[in-house]
Amino acid sequence: MKNIQIAIDGPASSGKSTVAKIIANDLAIIYLDTGAMYRSATLVSVENNTKDFNEIITYLRENPISFEKSSVFIGKRDISNIIRENEVTAHVSEISAIPEIREFLVEEQQRIAGSSSIIMDGRDIGTVVLPNADLKIFLIADVEERAERRYKENIERGIASNLEELVKEIAARDEYDSTRQVSPLKAAEDSIIFDTTGKSIQEVVTFIEDKIKALM
Ligand code: C5P
Repeated sequence: MKNIQIAIDGPASSGKSTVAKIIANDLAIIYLDTGAMYRSATLVSVENNTKDFNEIITYLRENPISFEKSSVFIGKRDISNIIRENEVTAHVSEISAIPEIREFLVEEQQRIAGSSSIIMDGRDIGTVVLPNADLKIFLIADVEERAERRYKENIERGIASNLEELVKEIAARDEYDSTRQVSPLKAAEDSIIFDTTGKSIQEVVTFIEDKIKALM
């Protein structure tokens, strides 16, 4: 099998990472959650009380972001849960909009993609990170449904949550991510836009896996 690159983009909580993980497992290929990388940079910003990209990047060079099974690390520290907390979520769009932070993380993402088959999810995968991806999917869903999915996820993770607040937070984050100067959230021209409102996870997985089979 030749190496394949699959890009999954879309707004917050559109189901990208859930389906990407399942597909990676089914195809036995690497999965990269790029949102977790921006969240990691944001955690460094919040904990060190700095928005200086040099300080954040220096910290991440000394304590690299890594993934092991479904956990995320900065250096040796497991930050899988703390990067999902409200404080990181509240600041992540602002930190993600800093061009130097994006440049640093995109380079890292492209290095990880290297010569292996990979499925990556984010906001700019089809447009910037993997512009030559074999398949580009852009997942969308109604904001209310996305908020409900996040609400359930948060409760499962033990994160305090309020549904109305989530609708506002998700809508605000999408607006910020879509209107930033550098690599805004948008569908690549050659992407397939798929509305997951009212669809089960399995339906979305099957839709994408059928497209992948058609490529092979
Ligand atoms: O995917 P997730 O919701 O965890 O992403 C958190 C934030 O990281 C997004 O709201 C966005 O600001 C940023 N992000 C990005 N580019 C990516 C992935 C995430 O700007 N490729």
